[in-house]
Amino acid sequence: MKLFKCYDCAESFKSESKDEVLIMLFNHYMKSHKEIITNNSEAEKLVWMDTFDSDWAKVHETTG
Ligand SMILES: [Zn+2]
Repeated sequence: MKLFKCYDCAESFKSESKDEVLIMLFNHYMKSHKEIITNNSEAEKLVWMDTFDSDWAKVHETTG
């Protein structure tokens, strides 16, 4: 399990897989930070995905 914290608030999400945590993050952003999704250009979204990719790779496995 990896624990990934939201970039824009204190919430965090626990998951085994990157795809799953992306869906959790997306749903969370649509609910809590919708203006960030709607204000971002396609280029900014690509930068966000790159940042997410490298940050996810750096997260250490946790138990539980
Ligand atoms: Zn958040």
